This record gives sequence, structure tokens and C-alpha cells, in this order.
Amino acid sequence: MPLTIAPETVRFQSEVKLGRVLVVEDEELIRETVALALGEEGYEVLTAEDGRKGLELATKAGDSNPAEALALDLIILDLMLPYVNGLDLCRLIRHEGSTVPILMLSAKGTETDRVVGLEVGADDYLTKPFGMRELVARCRALLRRHQRSQMQAQEPTLKFHEIVLYPQECRVTIRGEETSLSPKEFRILELFMANPRRVWSREQLIERIWGPDFMGDSKTVDVHIRWLREKLELDPSRPEYLLTVRGFGYRFG
Ligand code: CA
Repeated sequence: MPLTIAPETVRFQSEVKLGRVLVVEDEELIRETVALALGEEGYEVLTAEDGRKGLELATKAGDSNPAEALALDLIILDLMLPYVNGLDLCRLIRHEGSTVPILMLSAKGTETDRVVGLEVGADDYLTKPFGMRELVARCRALLRRHQRSQMQAQEPTLKFHEIVLYPQECRVTIRGEETSLSPKEFRILELFMANPRRVWSREQLIERIWGPDFMGDSKTVDVHIRWLREKLELDPSRPEYLLTVRGFGYRFG
């Protein structure tokens, strides 16, 4: 039986936009080809034929007035442009505080161009001539990466006074500075911070962190607590965060 698609489905698919892309490119043929390829992929495409117009559209996108905001998801930027070149444009966009992914295009393709492009805040770099499939693949990858990092930025963190723990990123800052913890230290701290003031016995900690098959001594817990105190506490001999509860074990805060 032939596969039939309901007309509503077709219309729905063509109306769903994957993201809004700005293409800043002075060569008309490339600009139109790129716009067409991305449009066919389901992106909403805006174009600018020079740096000035590009800047106008890109910064308007970052406008704090929601009615004015264009909310771009990706910018494709040619290096050599009239009025404002691609590098300056990229720098200006980043200066505005925008984290929108930027893909730079260049006819030259020298290593220096690539390095400078990435230094001024571009996320990826493509040398002309390029195929549309390559371009579309790079755009997809950039958008995915950006969406992922935005989601991570929204992940909850654990905070206690001056200690902040980022569960998704496996990192900890103390008094605003990055601190390197071993995986076990990190997991102990995460458990403590997720359960403030709860008292844990050494056996409970071993069960939770090392697992029921752990054959070592419960002194292992004391050693890890000591290491953690050295990293977290201002005065490890008089801890304020990792407290000993005599006869029971440890608690946090
Ligand atoms: Ca150009």
C-alpha cells in the first residue's frame, strides 16, 4: 500500500522553523544559495549584503525590547565584507554580550584567518568553496551545541554559603574560584550538599559513594573527608562546612 501523508502534516512540517539564521555575505550567488539551502532545511533565513546591514540586524536581535528583538539562533558571516568586515562584525557582536553561534566564511582559508576568526569569538570556520551539505551539517552541529550549553546553564546548582557545586559540569567553586576535586570527593560533597545537616555514618557513606562491594576500611572515609576539608575549609583543623558528629559520623553545614 502506498504511503500517504495527510495534507495537514505537510503544512505543519513546512511551518515549523528550526531556528533563525542571519547570513551576511556580499557575493549574491553564495548568499542566495546558502539562504536557499538553509530555507529548505527548515530554517528561517535573514540576509544582509554588507557588514553595516549585518550589524544592524545582529544587534537588533540582541535588543532588550522584545518587540524589536529578532532573536537569532545562528549567524553565518563572510570575512571580507563592505563597510564593516567579518572580523570586526564578529567582535562587535560579542562585545554586545551575545553568545549566538557564529560560523565564519572565508575565501582565503589560511591558518591565520582561521585562528583570528576563532580568537574574535567565531565558533566555527568554513573555507570557500564549500558544499551546501557541509554547510548545513556545520550549522546543525553549532545549533545543537549551543542549545545544549544553554540547557546546561539552566541546570540547578547546589549552593551553600561560598561553595557552589555544578552537578552537570562536575565542578565546584569556592569563594568564586575553581577547585579541583577527585571524583570521589566530588560525589561526597554532592551528597552532603544535597542533604544539608543530615548526619551520615561512615558505613552509609561507603555504601553510597563506594558501593556495597567495597572491601576497604571505613578509615577511607576519614581520609577523604580530611582531603575535602583541606580544599574547602579556610582552617581545616576547625571546619565550618564538614563537621564531625562524635560517635555518629559527619554532616555538612
Ligand atoms: Ca566577501
